[in-house]
Amino acid sequence: MSRLRRRSLTLAAALCSATISLSALMAHPTISYAVSYEGTTFEIDGTYSDINAAVQEVQRQASDILGVELPLAEEVTVTPHFGQGDTTAQELPEALLMSVDGIAAGCGLYLDGSLVAAAPDRETAESAVSSLLDEVPAGQRNAHYADEPELREGYYPEADLVSGQELEAAIGSEFTIISTSTLITETLVPYTTIYDVDEDAYEEEMKPTLISRGSDGVLRSEYEITLENGVETGRVLKYLDVISEMEPEVIAIAGNPGSRYDSKGYYLWPVSGTVTSGFGKRNISGGTSNHRGLDIAAPAGTEIHAADGGVVMTSGKHDSYGNFVQIKHDNGDITLYAHMKKRLVSVGDRVAQGDVIGLVGSTGQSTGNHCHFEVRPGGGSPVDPLKYLPKEQTQY
Ligand SMILES: [Zn+2]
Repeated sequence: MSRLRRRSLTLAAALCSATISLSALMAHPTISYAVSYEGTTFEIDGTYSDINAAVQEVQRQASDILGVELPLAEEVTVTPHFGQGDTTAQELPEALLMSVDGIAAGCGLYLDGSLVAAAPDRETAESAVSSLLDEVPAGQRNAHYADEPELREGYYPEADLVSGQELEAAIGSEFTIISTSTLITETLVPYTTIYDVDEDAYEEEMKPTLISRGSDGVLRSEYEITLENGVETGRVLKYLDVISEMEPEVIAIAGNPGSRYDSKGYYLWPVSGTVTSGFGKRNISGGTSNHRGLDIAAPAGTEIHAADGGVVMTSGKHDSYGNFVQIKHDNGDITLYAHMKKRLVSVGDRVAQGDVIGLVGSTGQSTGNHCHFEVRPGGGSPVDPLKYLPKEQTQY
C-alpha cells in the first residue's frame, strides 16, 4: 500500500466516510470498524469515539515506552463496514500496542517504583528473583530482600528485555539481600597476677614467691551475624560460655622496700622511763661537768632498743660508760647506749629500729640503773637527744 493511499484513509477521512454512510448504518443493526496499523487489521465492535480514544491512548503509551513521539494515530486507518467485528474496543489498545515495532510484552522488575530491568515473561523474572535467594551460601539463614522486588507485567521496549541471567545480574547490583549466620569464637582470657603483700616483710629478706601458678581461661562466644549481600553489617552476642576459668597467678611480695635494718631516718626512745639528767652543763659533787647525753632511769634488766636501724660499730666496756654500744646509722649519725647490765649485740651486727641491743644496768660511772643515751650527728660531737626524740616516749 502506497503512502499516499494510506494517508487517504486517516481517521479524519474515516470519520467523514462514517457520516456519509449514516443512512446505511441506520438500516443495518451492526456496524464495525476495520482498524489497520502496520499491515495488521483488527475488526472492532464499538463506537468511533471509543476507537479514537483507544488509538490516542496507545499512541501516548507507545511513545512513553519507547521514549520518542510516535505519529501512531496518523498511521492508523479506521474504516467502517457492516458486519460483526471480532475484537472489542476495550481489547484494541493491547492488541494495537503489541503490533508497534520495538514494543513487546514483558515482566518488569521494580525497586521502590523504579524499573530495574524487564524479562520477556513473569516466569523468567520470578525465577531470577528466587534463584538469587537460593544462591546464598550454606550457613546463611533467613535470606530475604531488604526491599521485595515488585514484578509488573506490561509492555516494554523489546530491545531492553533481558535474559534471566542478565536479570539476575541486575538484581544482584540493585537489590540488597539480608541474611543471618552464626559465628562461634573462642577467646583466650590471659591470667592476671595478684600480689599478696606481706606488710611486715622487706624486699631484701623476702624475694617474690610464687604461691600458685596462673592459667589462661577460655571463653566461647556465639554471635548472630547480620549480612547484607554477604557482608557483615552487625553482630549480636547470643551466648557466652566459660570453657575454662581463668586462674590468677598469686605471688607473695614484701610490703617494704630495702631491708628491715635500713635506717628509717627518725629515732625512737631506747628505753621508756624517767629522765633523770638532761644534756649539757650540770653540777656534780665538787664542780660542774658537761653531760653529753640523756639519762633515762629504768629498772635493771629493762630492755634497751636501737633508736633506729644500723650497724653495731662498738660493743664493749669503758671506764665511764661501762658496758656500752654504738650504732652507726645509714646517714652517718651515731647513737650510743651506756651503763648496760648486759650487751646483746656484737660489732658488725645489723640491727633494726626497735631491736633489743642490751639490758639496763649501772656499770661504769653510774649512781643508779639507767640508760645514758647520746646522739652524734654525722659521727661528730654529741647534741641534745631531746631534739631528735619524739615528744611522747616510745612504749615497748
Ligand atoms: Zn649520762
